[in-house]
Amino acid sequence: MRFATKAVHRGEEKGKVSKFGDVVVPVHLSTTFARDSLDAPLVYEYSRAGNPTRNALEEKLASLEDASGALAFASGTGATTTAAFLLKKGDRIVASDDIYGGTHRLFTAAMARFGIDVSFIDMTDEDAVHRAAGSRPDMVWIESPTNPQLRIVDIAEAAELSHDHNPDSLVVVDNTFASPYFQRPLDLGADMVLYSTTKYVSGHSDVIGGALVIDDEELLARAALLQRTLGATPGPLDCFLTMRGMRTLALRMEKHQENAMAVAGFLGESALVDQVIYPGLESHPQHELASAQMSGYSGMVSFVLSPRADLGRFLGSTELIALGVSLGGVESLIEHPWSMTQNAIPVEDRRRAGLSDRLVRLSVGIEHIDDLTADLEQALDRAATR
Ligand SMILES: *Cc1c(COP(=O)(O)O)cnc(C)c1O
Repeated sequence: MRFATKAVHRGEEKGKVSKFGDVVVPVHLSTTFARDSLDAPLVYEYSRAGNPTRNALEEKLASLEDASGALAFASGTGATTTAAFLLKKGDRIVASDDIYGGTHRLFTAAMARFGIDVSFIDMTDEDAVHRAAGSRPDMVWIESPTNPQLRIVDIAEAAELSHDHNPDSLVVVDNTFASPYFQRPLDLGADMVLYSTTKYVSGHSDVIGGALVIDDEELLARAALLQRTLGATPGPLDCFLTMRGMRTLALRMEKHQENAMAVAGFLGESALVDQVIYPGLESHPQHELASAQMSGYSGMVSFVLSPRADLGRFLGSTELIALGVSLGGVESLIEHPWSMTQNAIPVEDRRRAGLSDRLVRLSVGIEHIDDLTADLEQALDRAATR
């Protein structure tokens, strides 16, 4: 089966989810499951450990990447926490310096207190990746495209180097920005793929969730034990909503990409925009790597607003495009990383990672492109200072 077919059917095959022939998985709210005898549970025992609706979601997620399994979580952050708990005191993480703010905070503020050391490097810098791999970290945390600067990390290269130096090193790719539709990190050598399913995977800004996708039975079993031990599991209704969104993932991603390319082109023409960052543009410094590593460029566009425009006025002037954090929903969203999503990262770290306080991040939705460009145009007009 191809991706679009699996996204519709897998995990919900006829006869599998109920005896009534439901074509979508039912929401199994039961917290506990009765046994026939003392010997063993029938299939499920207790819904934190396993639940039929969650199991269907996990099957669908795993099928999209031909992985041994997937684990669903109550949030992307819950998935990150669980992945980090695969480590032990004294272990070391090397992570991308341009990274989701909450992940940065989790590693520095929370995991560091358990004796786990973290360092951040520019993973687009080949020498830095070589040096870091040589230091034999226990976990390598990659985001690509990175948030919010949309840099591309050579996943195959980073994974190979890390495993050469330390075969036990866990290479994790946060694939939230690309989605499983446009990038398959397991095929590139990653051990584990992480999603905030809150974003493209569910796609409708109506459910918070996360996932780990793993193609190794032993690692999957270790992570599954932590999933039920740490307890950051999603409720069945959340799983149902995530699956409802996933059925259109292929369609949505194509449209997000098409609109993002058009929006990037439109912004590039504006005198009030100094720089447009979109991996699909030939002007992107790693356009070739993006084209080789991904099957599409996804729907995130970042741009640097010129000093000839008032940043606050611009961000306060879009009408259709809401000013807000998050991304990957059918509706377009705009935000200011410096003061919003990256605010949890210390100022000096933001500067070191090359983040500009004039950078604007746009999650391009699936609306009609003319309405999106008209909204951006009127907001730019209102923001012009001379
Ligand atoms: C949103 C996000 C997360 C965190 O996920 P939550 O579902 O908000 O907990 C992690 N990584 C990336 C790239 C994200 O965009």
